Amino acid sequence: MNCIYCGGKTHVFNSRLQNRSNNIWRRRRCDECEANFTSIEKLDLGSSISVLKSDGSLEPFSSDKLLISIDDSLRHRKSHISDATALTKTIIDHILGASSDAVVAASTIQDISTKILNRFDNVASVHYKAYYSKS
Ligand SMILES: [Zn+2]
Repeated sequence: MNCIYCGGKTHVFNSRLQNRSNNIWRRRRCDECEANFTSIEKLDLGSSISVLKSDGSLEPFSSDKLLISIDDSLRHRKSHISDATALTKTIIDHILGASSDAVVAASTIQDISTKILNRFDNVASVHYKAYYSKS
């Protein structure tokens, strides 16, 4: 990565794994102007995981899409946005844990989501199932 100030080469002098988000935080220093800045390395789920749909087609995994479906299921709750954000993270952790493969069946994602929603809020899991039987 080049320096954001002068465009020179940089080196990493400190890095840390952010456990909760699984991001890697790196402190960089420019070899030319000696400026310091931080970069964050994130897993690119879309290019890492493909979703196998019931019609046999593949599409890149989208955490936004998952978040929208979860949020939709939680609409009856006041705190649906923060609940959906937290649950989506939990669901993604389970999806990654359930598969060592780059391809995950859409039905697996739906099963995991239903199970996690059910544990959190039974009404939400009913909404979620309805959401997916529509599409
Ligand atoms: Zn620089």
